[in-house]
Amino acid sequence: MIDDTLLSALKQVKYPGFSRDIVSFGLVSGATIEGNRAVVALALSTADERIPRLLKQDVEQALSQLPGIEAADVHVSVTVPKTHGQAQKRDVQGPEQQRLPGVKKIIAVASGKGGVGKSTFAVNLACAFDKLLSEQGRPRQVGLMDCDIYGPSVPLMMGISARPEVRDNMLTPLENFGIRVMSMGFLLDDTTPVVWRGPMIMKTIQQFAANVDWGELDILVVDLPPGTGDAQLSLVQTLPLDGAVIVTTPQSVAVNVTRRGAMMFGKVNVPLLGLAENMSYLENPDGTKNFVFGQGGGASAARDLETELLGQVPLDPAIGQGSDRGIPSVIGHPDSAAGQAFQTMAKNLLQKLGL
Ligand code: ADP
Repeated sequence: MIDDTLLSALKQVKYPGFSRDIVSFGLVSGATIEGNRAVVALALSTADERIPRLLKQDVEQALSQLPGIEAADVHVSVTVPKTHGQAQKRDVQGPEQQRLPGVKKIIAVASGKGGVGKSTFAVNLACAFDKLLSEQGRPRQVGLMDCDIYGPSVPLMMGISARPEVRDNMLTPLENFGIRVMSMGFLLDDTTPVVWRGPMIMKTIQQFAANVDWGELDILVVDLPPGTGDAQLSLVQTLPLDGAVIVTTPQSVAVNVTRRGAMMFGKVNVPLLGLAENMSYLENPDGTKNFVFGQGGGASAARDLETELLGQVPLDPAIGQGSDRGIPSVIGHPDSAAGQAFQTMAKNLLQKLGL
């Protein structure tokens, strides 16, 4: 049983060393009020002996602020994580298992439905991040993790067709355009039926998170599977995300599903960094804009969600051609309206993340 008042107070407690709270990490297994006592149970997985003590202190402190609560019983049950290659139990999962050493920031690129350009954004934002960081003398600090099991298109878009090597039980990302890439597409073969893939998501992503040797990264971009169902929710719970970007098209249907996407991140306390609108318009030869799918959808959804409209990317045949040839727009056509839009968004996002 979990009491709502206690839950709100527990949401203020951050996991030591993380910007996320203990509720969104799924560590609270019970929270009840008995008379004037709060009784809270936490279940976590860590090898660090200081964490349970720190958490107990922080939780007691947060509960002591609540009116009517005079004492708190905080029980912390700890499981020591197993090493790589051994089975990991879902119900005792703590953030410790998913922490990616050496990776400073992780952002997710999400969409309410497929086909809106989510992977195109993930790829181009990663390339734009690398460009901007390289200009600051920090090249090769960007990773791209393709978790879109329904259509892992990142390898094609990034022009990578090799299979990743395994060294010391760890997958080594493949690299192109200075970006380190790992994709479900490297691991699934074309004959794996899509219906089998849903239940595989959690397991595979956990393996991804734990078993990819990313090295030192300033930023890791995660291309999520489209949609806002349970699989996506458990996935965003698993990854220690610092923020999310939602991609939409101007159509009202796309905008409606976008709202559900934003709610998903709200549930797990992952900050929404902004909304990006794709296929916003087609540029006529005379430079005027033709708003084929309607106008203002992204802006009004961003207002609704109280987030920023990060930018608008036009319909551009070069994007489709570049995807097929494995050359992202930011690399092949950096000065096009789309190439510029990706770079402006990336700059804004790096600022928001403090990079
Ligand atoms: P999602 O990841 O949302 O399923 P993709 O990024 O795979 O979508 O894009 C779907 C298709 O649309 C791809 O073929 C891609 O090249 C194309 N595409 C995406 N954005 C644009 C755009 N702005 N202009 C033209 N084609 C685009």
